[in-house]
Amino acid sequence: MALERTFSIIKPDATRRNITGKVIAKLEEGGLRVVAQKRIHMTREQAEGFYAVHRERPFFGELVDFMMSGPVVVQVLEGEDAIKRNREIMGDTNPKDASPGTIRAEFAESIGENTVHGSDAPETAAVEIKFFFTDAEIVG
Ligand code: ATP
Ligand code: MG
Repeated sequence: MALERTFSIIKPDATRRNITGKVIAKLEEGGLRVVAQKRIHMTREQAEGFYAVHRERPFFGELVDFMMSGPVVVQVLEGEDAIKRNREIMGDTNPKDASPGTIRAEFAESIGENTVHGSDAPETAAVEIKFFFTDAEIVG
């Protein structure tokens, strides 16, 4: 195990329902520390760029529209094995498959509007952190 950083988004379905604090509490209780955080409203360019790997998927348009539909909270999380740990705390993509107690089991509305994003590997974490944060904004 190693101290790692990962990138996380609290998605528009959560800001709309005013539950960002509940989501952050789950991450903190799960052993992760917020070392950078800001609330932004993504532009189309940002949403399309961030999700470029999913460009060919049938849900791409829907995903981009959703991510631009309201404010999001982008954050960098730090902790032991943070990438894997964050995804465990988040639960499966589809809330119907997510384990009890996970963020998506408790809060997600559907497979598309699923409350959080988390990086899936060290390489994507590094790219995603740089997409939204400068080094000076990471203060943990
Ligand atoms: P994320 O990348 O957001 O952390 P993930 O890694 O669990 O989620 P991906 O397969 O990378 O899931 O899909 C990215 C996002 O695209 C999902 O979180 C979800 O919002 C959306 N998505 C995935 N599959 C579908 C689908 N079948 N229909 C609608 N939206 C979907
Ligand atoms: Mg993903």
